[in-house]
Order: sequence, then C-alpha cells, then structure tokens
Amino acid sequence: MPERSESESRKLLRRLRDTLAEPGAGQERLDRITHLIADSMQTQVCSIYLFRDDDTLELCATEGLKKESVHKTRMRLGEGLVGRVAKSSTPINTGNAPAEKGFRYMPETGEEIYSSFLGVPIQRLGEKLGVLVVQSKDARQFSDDEVYAIEVVAMVLAEMTELGAFVGEGEALSALHTHPAMFRGSTGQEGTAEGHVWLHEPRVVITNPVGDDPDVERKRLHEAVEQLRVSVDDMISLADGQGAEQREVLEAYRMFAHSRGWIRRMEEDIGRGLSAEAAVEKEQSTARARLETVPDAYLRDRLHDLDDLSNRLLRRLTGQGTDTGAEMPQDPILVARNIGPAELLDYGRRLKGVVLEEGSVGSHAAVVARALAIPLVIHAEKITTEALNGDAILVDGDQGIVHLRPEETVTAAFRDKIAMQAAAQSRYASLRDLPATALCGTTIALHMNAGLMADLPSLVGSGAEGVGLFRTELQFLIRNHVPKRSELASIYSGVLDAAKGKRVAFRTLDIGSDKVLPYMKRVEEPNPAMGWRAIRVGLDKPGVMRMQLQALLRAANGRSLTLMFPFVTEFSEFRVARQMVVDEAEREKRLGHVLPSALEIGAMLETPSLAYAPDAFFRAVDFISIGGNDLKQFFFAADRENEQVRRRYDVLNSSFLRFIQYIVGRCEENGTPLSFCGEDAGRPVEAICLAALGLRTLSMRPASIGPVKHLIRRIDLAELRELLLAECRADHSNVRPAVMDWLATQDV
Ligand code: PEP
Ligand code: MG
Repeated sequence: MPERSESESRKLLRRLRDTLAEPGAGQERLDRITHLIADSMQTQVCSIYLFRDDDTLELCATEGLKKESVHKTRMRLGEGLVGRVAKSSTPINTGNAPAEKGFRYMPETGEEIYSSFLGVPIQRLGEKLGVLVVQSKDARQFSDDEVYAIEVVAMVLAEMTELGAFVGEGEALSALHTHPAMFRGSTGQEGTAEGHVWLHEPRVVITNPVGDDPDVERKRLHEAVEQLRVSVDDMISLADGQGAEQREVLEAYRMFAHSRGWIRRMEEDIGRGLSAEAAVEKEQSTARARLETVPDAYLRDRLHDLDDLSNRLLRRLTGQGTDTGAEMPQDPILVARNIGPAELLDYGRRLKGVVLEEGSVGSHAAVVARALAIPLVIHAEKITTEALNGDAILVDGDQGIVHLRPEETVTAAFRDKIAMQAAAQSRYASLRDLPATALCGTTIALHMNAGLMADLPSLVGSGAEGVGLFRTELQFLIRNHVPKRSELASIYSGVLDAAKGKRVAFRTLDIGSDKVLPYMKRVEEPNPAMGWRAIRVGLDKPGVMRMQLQALLRAANGRSLTLMFPFVTEFSEFRVARQMVVDEAEREKRLGHVLPSALEIGAMLETPSLAYAPDAFFRAVDFISIGGNDLKQFFFAADRENEQVRRRYDVLNSSFLRFIQYIVGRCEENGTPLSFCGEDAGRPVEAICLAALGLRTLSMRPASIGPVKHLIRRIDLAELRELLLAECRADHSNVRPAVMDWLATQDV
C-alpha cells in the first residue's frame, strides 16, 4: 500500500473528525463534510444520500450538484446508480456513469456533465444508512486507494450517524432509534407482554473511529488480539472432552484469531487512519455483507463465528463488556439475534418476553420459551439493530408482532388486550377444581405438557390432572455433555415428587430432526424431520436410551412410572423398545433397586403408518398418545418448521378429522387408551372437535387448560359430533366454518 495514499486518507479522516467536532446542526455538518471531501479528493461533486424510510434514499447534502435538489431528489432502493449501491451494499466505480446499467438521469441535480462516478454504501454492521458519492468530469475510474479512502470515510459517517451527529429537520435526518417501529415476525410461543428492551448482547458503540497514531492503534489491536487468543485457548481447554460440534466452533475461533489475512486487513485499515476498534468493525461489516449472500450453510456458520469473534475483540478494545453497566429493567423483554437454550434458562422466568431475529418454531430456545411459558416472537428481522436497552416494547406472541417504542394509542390497545386476557384467566381460575364435563355429561381429562422442573408448579395452579407429555430433551439440550444417569435420576425423581402422585408420562429422548445435541456428532441429512431421529436413534444406538430408562426406573423408586416412545412408525420398533424397558427393569432388580409399583409403556402416534399397524400393536401398548404436531406435518406433507406452509393446512380439515376418527375407532376396538398431546389440543375450538370425535384425554400447555375447560363445559359434545360427522360426509374440505357458525349459536 503506497505510503502517500495512506497519509492522504489519514489526513482526510483527521479533517473529517475536526469538522465533526465543530459545533453545528446536522445539516450544517453534512454540508461541511461534502465540501471537505470534494476538496480533499479533488472531485467536482460529493453528495450524501440518507434513507428517509426503508425503501427511499434522499439527497441530504451536496457539493457540486444544484443546491435546490437537496431534500428533493429521492430514489428507491435499487433505482439508479445510487439506489443500486444501497441495494447491493457494494461500491460502484465507473468512468462512464451514463453507460452504466441502471443509470438514471436526474435533471434537477445538473449531474449530466459528470462522467465518473464512485458510490459507496454508508452502513454499520449490515444496517443500511445511506450512500456516499463522489463524481468528476474527467472520464476516469477512481483508483483503489481512492475507493478505499471513500469507504473509510463512509464508515466514519455511519458511526457518526449512529451517534446522532446529523440529526436535523425532515425524515432523512431524524434521529435513529427514536421512532416507533413495528416488526412482523412469527409466533414462537403465544402470549403477550409489555416491558422494556434488554439486549442479550448490547451493541458496542464506537466513539473514536479515527485514530491519531497508527502505531498506537496497531499496538492496541495486537494486545487485544493476544488476549483474545488466550481466551479462545482457555475456552478450548475448558471444552476438552466435549462434543465434536462445539470443538469445531472453537477451532474455527482459533483459526480466525490466528488468521494473518484478517489481522493484516485490520492493520491496513489502521494505516489508513482508522482506530483499532473501527478497523475491527470495518472488517466485521464486510463479513456481514458477505453473510447475506453466501448460500452455503457451513460457510455461513463460519462467518457467524467470525462475527462473534469480532464482537469479542470490540468489547476488549472499547472496554464495553457484555456487562455495560446498564441495569436490567424490572420488566425485561430479551432481544437477541439468537440465543442458546442454556442462556435462556439462565435468565429464566425473570423475562417477560423474548424477541429473536433468527430462531425457529422448533429451535431449542423456542422449546425453553415454551416450557417457561414466555411469549416468544421469532424472525423479527433487524430488531437488534433498531432496539436500544431500555426501549419500551410490546410483544404479541399470538400474532408474531412486536412494537418497539410504540405510540400511545398502540400501547393503550395492547393493554386492553392484556387486561381482557387477564380477566379471562381469572375467570378460568374459578374453574380450576371443576371437571371438564360437557353439557352432554361426557368428561374430558385435561393434562399438561411440560419439559422442565420449573413447569411443575403449574400442575396445581392450572388444574391439570397430570402431565400428559414430559419432554425429556431439555435436560440433554442445555448441557454440553451427555447428562449422567444420576443427574437424570435426580431430576426425574424431583418431577415425580412435585407431581405428588399425579401421573407423569415421560417421553424418552426425542432428538434428531431440529433438536440436535451440541455434543452429538451431526449427521448431515437432506430431510432431518424424516431422518434419523427419536426412537430410531434410540434403537440403533441404544446406549443413551438404556441409560435414560435406568434413570427413569431408579427415579420412580417404588412409585408408578409411565413412559412413552416418540415417533414409533411400526409395531416392531415398539416391541424392541418395550423389551429394552423389560431388560433394564430386570437389571435394576438384580442390582437391588426397587422397581416401580406399576409400569405403563405407551407409544406416540406421529406418523400415519402407525394408525394402520396390526391389532396386536394396539393391544401391546398400554396407551397411545397422538403427537399432533408431527402427525399433521406428515399427514399433509407440510413441514412444521417451514413458515411458508406450516399454517397452510388445518386440523379441522375433514380428511384429517376422518383420520383421527379412524384412529379413535382402532383404539376403541382394541381397548387402547388414547390421548392427544400436540399444540392443537390447547386451542379451544380444535380441542372440542377432538373431544367430539372421541378423544377423552388432551394434553396441552398449562395456560390453555382454563380456556379449553371453559369451552368444553359450555357445549354439547354429542351435538358437535353429529355436526362434524355430517360435515365430513359433505363436500367441504374444512369444517371450521360450520363449527364457528354452530358456536355462534351456543352460549359460550
Ligand atoms: C408432537 O409432535 O405433537 C409432539 C407432541 O411432540 P413434539 O412437538 O415434541 O415433536
Ligand atoms: Mg413429535
């Protein structure tokens, strides 16, 4: 890199910093900056375009174009060369602008006489803020050094925009992070919450993007990198003996921490005038921009690792740890790009809600949020760049919507909704000790789903008769090693203690598919939901399943024990699994442990094939529990994790109801107790239809028990059954409209 251009860009940055330090309103500052850049770069034109909304750029300051066009000239994202720079987040450098694809002539600016054009995005960690442009009359391309200098200036502008240096009149100059903003994500867990933002990883604020002395900055960088290397080595030695996947991530960290290319690029940035932290952030921005375009999942993961490592480095350089000194609000709503299950559990019930940019319905975080009964919105794109610690925030987990810094009217409407829900909850509380007996006299047993010790207190409060589904994955997911048998036994024993004699149906480990253990060797599968998961893993690699069975038998310690196997697809699988339980029980007995007083062994019906299993299967199981979430996904061939299709098919589709009716019939013929434990059991309208078709036990989230019981007690299931059967025989593919019409005539 030529020393001359190094000092050129340093000089430019220093002038820029001095200009920014002078007092003045936002507009004045922008005007001074465009003048300064045009002067330093010896170009006729320098313009700054900023976003006025997500989709529109506005010319906010210019040296060289007609002044009248300022705040008048606008373009859409992708429109013209400026719009193209913004959209693609990459520079355009051309000696013949009019010949460029997408060039748009804007007479009001008088720009037709400028032939060369260099536009670079103004962006901060992937957040698009605007475009910086220089133009000149001579038809030449700008040199690499000039492009670099402008990029560095754009980065400093981005930092200063973030710090509010250009706040002025009009939309484009309005302060960042002050407007109300709405995010449309998806439901991760239903429920509503009002509170204040608590950022899981508060962003680092860089107040000194320009470095005075490159030697000092390089030294700071090297010291921070050295500390980082030591901490990565520490992490690796701590993680010794743990799962391959975690080691892979840490090894990637180590590789990046020692990457000469990465460090050289940051040194070059410093040489051009940036401070050490600005250099780190510049490279981080570049990596984030690449992240958006890389299709390969493995490479994306590695870029995420680099991003994470850059954050660690930034924290060291700025002294801003995760602990920024900010105090967690009384009513924290956690906002994060993503979060692991163990971290989420650490926050625990202190949180009133969680909003994630990534995540998925079946992600570990969602499983934990569900267990903690905290409203969760996922896929809230860009919320971590918008939200600041302490911002007011409303989370509508039912709709998958988040309001950040909401207007008063929105807050008022939201509070009304919460108040109505609270009133309903207290109405439901009065039903707690009453049975779910319908007007026709049929009683439905309502059980709850659980997955954590922390769930158990709800067993009394919700009025559930027992735990119809205890998901045992969480204890495996939140550790970075396989839990010990003794650890599990003590957890399961605690669960049984807390249940005080009520029935708890423990489901054996359902891993694979979306639930991948951090320490399990990841098997790449084209279609993991239909792959090597649940009982299939347990049968092929029985070690963990046997250990879990031993822990369950030991935990029961003379009490009765109920367990069920997930994802059974054919009779033989159940036979082998049940034999494993028998073998383990005999072994326990030989070892002198007390056996359970009674043992119930059930199967989950989650694949259509099992509904057509031989009668012998129905007689061999002690009970069947329909896992409606999976059964629906396989019945309709619609991935429960795929936002595009997961809501497309309805349980109240007449084909599905006929299928349920068929399963009920098979169980009745064979005297097999049947229950339903998918999410639909907790939706009142769906629940009454399942009950009307003959399901006598439903298991759901504790919060759903009240609403479901309330509705059951107010209707005649026999009447609803007649309606459903008639509708299924008729031509309709969906019975919901008829059910809703019928409900409207009932006193509910
Ligand atoms: C189901 O599939 O309906 C079920 C209860 O199990 P999970 O949601 O844990 O797959
Ligand atoms: Mg399932």
